[in-house]
Amino acid sequence: MDQKISVMKFGGTSVGDADCIKRAASIVIDAARTGPLVVVVSAMSGITNRLIDAAHASANGETNAAGALAATLRDQHVAAIKILVSGQEAASQLTVEIEKIIGEVEDLCRGTALLRELTPRALDSISSAGERLSARLLAQAICELGCHAKAVDATELIVTDNTSGRAEPLTVETRQRTITRLTPLLESHSVPVVTGFVGATTEGTLTTLGRGGSDYSATILGAALDAGEVIIWTDVDGVLTADPRLVPDARTLQEISYNEAAELAYFGAKVLHPKTLRPVSEAGIPVWIRNSFAPERPGTQITTTGHPTARGVKAITAIGDVSLITVGGRGIVGVLGVAARTFTAAATAQANVLLISQSSSENDICFIINSVDEARTVAELRRAFAFDLAHKEVEHISVDSDIAIVAVVGDRMRGMPGIAGRTFSVLGRRGINIIAIAQGSSEYNVSFVVQAGSMRDAVQSLHSEFGLQRPADRVE
Ligand code: ADP
Ligand code: ASP
Ligand code: MG
Repeated sequence: MDQKISVMKFGGTSVGDADCIKRAASIVIDAARTGPLVVVVSAMSGITNRLIDAAHASANGETNAAGALAATLRDQHVAAIKILVSGQEAASQLTVEIEKIIGEVEDLCRGTALLRELTPRALDSISSAGERLSARLLAQAICELGCHAKAVDATELIVTDNTSGRAEPLTVETRQRTITRLTPLLESHSVPVVTGFVGATTEGTLTTLGRGGSDYSATILGAALDAGEVIIWTDVDGVLTADPRLVPDARTLQEISYNEAAELAYFGAKVLHPKTLRPVSEAGIPVWIRNSFAPERPGTQITTTGHPTARGVKAITAIGDVSLITVGGRGIVGVLGVAARTFTAAATAQANVLLISQSSSENDICFIINSVDEARTVAELRRAFAFDLAHKEVEHISVDSDIAIVAVVGDRMRGMPGIAGRTFSVLGRRGINIIAIAQGSSEYNVSFVVQAGSMRDAVQSLHSEFGLQRPADRVE
């Protein structure tokens, strides 16, 4: 292929209903005119949550959850077919395909309800059905506009390890399969519309990449195809200086670096899955975040240098739904390997440690994880320290779920010692109590923990302290 391939990913809101799918299809058509294109698509918005809820309801023995789910899927997707597809034959063929997928998910949920057990494999299969449905709708919508398109299941392309729910891609195998499968389509000027969020092991077992993982699918394929660019179409104008739901006057950033984007995603900027930049940063493949509802706007470009600005700070981000776990007690200093055992327990519970913090007392070890991992992690810690707790060597394992992490992010912050000082004095002036400060965080952020109730105030006051609502002066 002479010309570099573009990879475009459409998120759930960008394919949320028939009008959105039409808009996405016309963006695809415009791009397909200028060069080879691979499309990645998420489930229609709300569908993945609906699938996961039905899977859990089935596991609780709710036998009618399967039927109710099937009805919802049918309503939403068949309604879209009626609007999107003009020919009778094409519409009925697509409806048959959609019904087949819905039937399979319904069977999986019924089986789950009978067994009253939801295996990780079954959850992967159920939760990924939304992408199988949306890929077929979008492919047909593109065909309706006069361009060849074909839905392709990413199980044929992205080879992963066998970690259900958060699988990792195997680069060499993925590259080989992707090139073999997609090249003939591209050469015949057909646009592959690939299901986001999924992959399969070398043995062919379906896996998923984690919630919001379609962004990751796009960059995995971008790297595999040595793409010229990856464009992530979403419902905002790009990466903003803060979550627009927290800061109404947040501004769109023109250009940020891979490091800045990765840091923002890691600390809660939902616009990107935290692993999105991994596959493309080394190869320097630019990633764009653009608004599918306003495709005339330029969006944010993510590059190696990210065009530094004079003020250093680029954005403020925050994550709620996290828990601070403390292992502590007066005797802890003398207990052998407490830190090692603590983090081994967290790893055994498969909890991702978001940050390790400093507490007021040096006798405590504190760390933060996502609240969904809390119960498992605490149980694992209690098991690991059972003897020490019984002998009062470790006095408590406590949990605070009413907290949030706030991070101030920017590439050039490390040369600017005043930033941490300004950050903490603003919070002091606002009367916001800092529960802990991150230890060993990267040079690209200053992060700290506050009460959940102070999160919005902390983000807003830092956003205005660093003047992020105004355009920044660039540094050449
Ligand atoms: P998609 O369905 O396209 O994957 P998501 O809902 O996953 O979209 O991500 C887009 C949302 O991320 C935006 O609507 C916005 O509310 C939220 N968001 C949080 N932080 C940021 C940020 N710093 N910049 C842009 N959007 C952000
Ligand atoms: N549909 C999946 C989810 O909701 C993946 C994605 O949207 O990126 O998590
Ligand atoms: Mg997303």
